[in-house]
Amino acid sequence: MKKPFLYFVLSFLLFSCSSNDTDAQIITDPKTESKYQTKNVILLVVDGARISETWEAANKENIPNRVSLLSQGVFISNFKNNGTTNTNPGHSAMCSGVYENIKNNGTELPGFPSVMQQWLKFTGADKTKAWVVASKDKLEVLNDCKLADWKGKFQPSVDCGVSGNGSGYRDDLVTMTKTKEVMAKYSPNVMVINLKDVDSYGHANNWNEYIKAIKTTDATIKEIWNYIQSLPAYKDKTTLIVSNDHGRHLDANGGFAEHGDDCAGCRHIEFFAMGPDFKKNVTINTGNYEQIDIASTIAELLRVPMQYTKGKVIKDIFK
Ligand SMILES: [Zn+2]
Ligand SMILES: [Zn+2]
Repeated sequence: MKKPFLYFVLSFLLFSCSSNDTDAQIITDPKTESKYQTKNVILLVVDGARISETWEAANKENIPNRVSLLSQGVFISNFKNNGTTNTNPGHSAMCSGVYENIKNNGTELPGFPSVMQQWLKFTGADKTKAWVVASKDKLEVLNDCKLADWKGKFQPSVDCGVSGNGSGYRDDLVTMTKTKEVMAKYSPNVMVINLKDVDSYGHANNWNEYIKAIKTTDATIKEIWNYIQSLPAYKDKTTLIVSNDHGRHLDANGGFAEHGDDCAGCRHIEFFAMGPDFKKNVTINTGNYEQIDIASTIAELLRVPMQYTKGKVIKDIFK
């Protein structure tokens, strides 16, 4: 007997519903299922750029690419590092969502698992799907933590600095080449990138090269965004977050060469982001958002229940 057309319609609807239910069971909190288009998050840290030379420069003359990309993204104008304003503590706070005064020389692990570790545990994904790619070798500590049950487990892949050149640091150009190689080869779902040149020229007290490095990293941000859109695994489903581990001293507190205290220059950092789930062409100055909120926000986008974090999701940037 010929089945009526309605039978096919109903079968199709039933099949659609049950397949959605199956998907939902994979996620711990069904309310968050399919809420976001983001499948990948890339956190790009411009090491030690002072806000007075980036977003708060008179005509934003050093960041023309960010200014034009803002039409596709969101900027928070009062974002802060409220912890220790040094490289390893700053990166650790962004990744774990906890401020800790860990040693800045790469000999001390963060106390709590990063969003990368938590994502790897939650999803069971291969370690090539989470990466730390950094110009500074000492940032390799971002692939682990001290906490029992996590130490030595669920570790992201790393490509940090270079051995054998004394400092352990490498030029940002090398880090960028590595970043693109990793993205093309492994398509990581979560990635943290550190670019150190701005910080290095700051410490060298070389104003012209410091400004030049800010301009170069600004061009790099556009380059990475274009590269993301050129790869099928990333196009239209990737969020890029740009931030700083710390700023640098206000001129009244010692100037751009150094950082590490609680002056406004060291505390005030950048938060600029683009992605399918974020607002566009918006600057936010409400809310009390800070560095530790980055971990929770990445976890929210990737639908990982984030543990241990003291931060919050940056709700105002979501559509
Ligand atoms: Zn730094
Ligand atoms: Zn300072």
